[in-house]
Amino acid sequence: MKTAIILGGGPAGCQCALWLKMLGLDPVIVEKTNKLGGLQHFNPYQNNWLIGMRHTTGREFANNVQQHIEELEIIVLFNDTIAEFNALEKSFSVRVGKHQLETANIIIATGSMPRAEAIDLNDSIAVNAANQDYNERVKTRAVTLRGSRKWQANLPNVFEAHREKLLDKRGFIATDAHCLTPLANIYAIGEVANRMPPCVSTSMADGVVAAKAIQDTLT
Ligand SMILES: Cc1cc2nc3c(=O)[nH]c(=O)nc-3n(C[C@H](O)[C@H](O)[C@H](O)COP(=O)(O)OP(=O)(O)OC[C@H]3O[C@@H](n4cnc5c(N)ncnc54)[C@H](O)[C@@H]3O)c2cc1C
Repeated sequence: MKTAIILGGGPAGCQCALWLKMLGLDPVIVEKTNKLGGLQHFNPYQNNWLIGMRHTTGREFANNVQQHIEELEIIVLFNDTIAEFNALEKSFSVRVGKHQLETANIIIATGSMPRAEAIDLNDSIAVNAANQDYNERVKTRAVTLRGSRKWQANLPNVFEAHREKLLDKRGFIATDAHCLTPLANIYAIGEVANRMPPCVSTSMADGVVAAKAIQDTLT
C-alpha cells in the first residue's frame, strides 16, 4: 500500500513527495501534464523571491524540481489524474488510468485557477510577474491577472461530489493546521488551499507540513 497519492506535481506536491520519501515513506505523484514544477514552468523570469535560488528562472527551478524527483526514484504517473477513488476501511482504492492503487492518504496539490465570472479583461491587466501578477490564458487571450480574489481552487473533477464539504466560502479547500481537509485522510496543500501569499515558498511549506502530519499518524 502507498503512503500517499499526491495529485499535482507543482512545488507543493513535489516538496511533499520529497519529504515523504526522505522520511522513508512511499509517495506517488499523479500529474496531469508531462512535466513537474507546476506554474513555475510559465515563469521565464528570475525567481529572486526564493532564498538560495537567486539568478534562477522559474523554468530552471521547475526543471530542477523534476530532476530531484527523478533522482529519488519517486513514482510519477504523468499525463493522468485520479479517475475514481473509494474509501475502504483504513485506506483508499484509487484508479489512475489503467492503474488500480491502494493508498493510506490522498493529497490534493492541484493549484488554483481564475474564476471565469470574476474576470474582466479590462481589469488590472499588468505585466509584472514578480508582484503577485500571474500570466494565464483566459478566453483565448494571454493576459496577466492581478488580485487573489479572482482565483479559486482548481478542484479536481473526482472531488466534485464533495465540493460542499471541501470548499470554504472563498472557493478554496478548507484545511486545518496540518493541511487536513474535512475529509478523513485527505490533505490539501499549496494554492489549492489558498495559502497566503500564494508563492513557491508557502506552497512548499505546506508540502512539508502534510508530510510530517502523515508521518505522525504512523507512529
Ligand atoms: C508567471 C508566474 C510567475 C510567478 N513568479 C513567482 C515568483 O517569482 N516567486 C514565487 O514564489 N512564486 C511565483 N509564482 C507563483 C508560483 O508559481 C505558485 O505560487 C506555485 O507554483 C504554486 O504551487 P502549487 O504546487 O500550489 O500549484 P501549481 O504550481 O499550480 O501546481 C499544480 C500542479 O497540479 C497539476 N494539476 C492540476 N490539476 C490536476 C489534476 N486534476 N490532476 C493531476 N494534476 C493536476 C498541474 O498541472 C500542476 O503541475 C509565479 C507564477 C506565475 C504563473
